[in-house]
Amino acid sequence: MPEGDTVWQAAQRLHGALAGRTLTRSDFRVPRYATSDLTGRAVLDVTPRGKHLLTRIEGGLTLHSHLRMDGAWKVFAAGQRWSGGPAHQIRVILGTADRTAVGYRLPVLELLRTADEQRAVGHLGPDLLGPDWDPEQALANLREDPARSLGEALLDQRNLAGIGNVYKCELCFLLGVTPWLPVGELPADRAAALPGLAKRLLEANRDRPVRRTTGLRGHDLFVYGRAPRPCLRCGTSVRLADQGDGSRERPTYWCPVCQAGPAPRPGGYTAAGRRRKRT
Ligand SMILES: [Zn+2]
Repeated sequence: MPEGDTVWQAAQRLHGALAGRTLTRSDFRVPRYATSDLTGRAVLDVTPRGKHLLTRIEGGLTLHSHLRMDGAWKVFAAGQRWSGGPAHQIRVILGTADRTAVGYRLPVLELLRTADEQRAVGHLGPDLLGPDWDPEQALANLREDPARSLGEALLDQRNLAGIGNVYKCELCFLLGVTPWLPVGELPADRAAALPGLAKRLLEANRDRPVRRTTGLRGHDLFVYGRAPRPCLRCGTSVRLADQGDGSRERPTYWCPVCQAGPAPRPGGYTAAGRRRKRT
């Protein structure tokens, strides 16, 4: 699942391939834009905004895309074999004289006026990798609903933009609290540390192909994907349960010893009393 760092890397790749160059190929494979033609226009820049990508095109246009679960932008040199998936999964092709950018499986793809970008991304909170980053505002947003679980609040891009499920789990481990802890019960020192820690994690990983949060040789992540193996810090078996609002459950990993706070019990209930799925 793409997180802010993955989207940042995609934006860098696209920007390097397209920015400052004129489009010689424009091929939309979605009905809504089947007749749109961007050839002859220059690409101005490609900017990540949280987990959204904004490709600005000469003439006041922005191509807005979002990768969601498995979308991808690939860049190919002339003559190179395309490798992003079968042709029917291609949603858009943008080409210059020597590079072709191909958008695969993009669940969100819309052509907007650049002046209307806020309609697409205006709901986002401060962007962890963006020029608008504002740690105080991010923390204030997170605390707006003190009863909400920390894990869900971290994933809500309206609070702060860029955290996906992997960083949600790793951040909660680093903060020493479970993802089910109500935001309002986060100790003050850890709440104060949270925005800076989240930013450091994303920044440290934005140029890496593999996400790392541990600094330990041979181990990239503390808890995510590690159940039921032993916790790297205390040796207790890492736990796994779903977290979500019922419509969107996310596999969530934690160490019951290193992380304080409520968590789903084998009986199917959290300490907070909400019905949970069995793990
Ligand atoms: Zn532990």
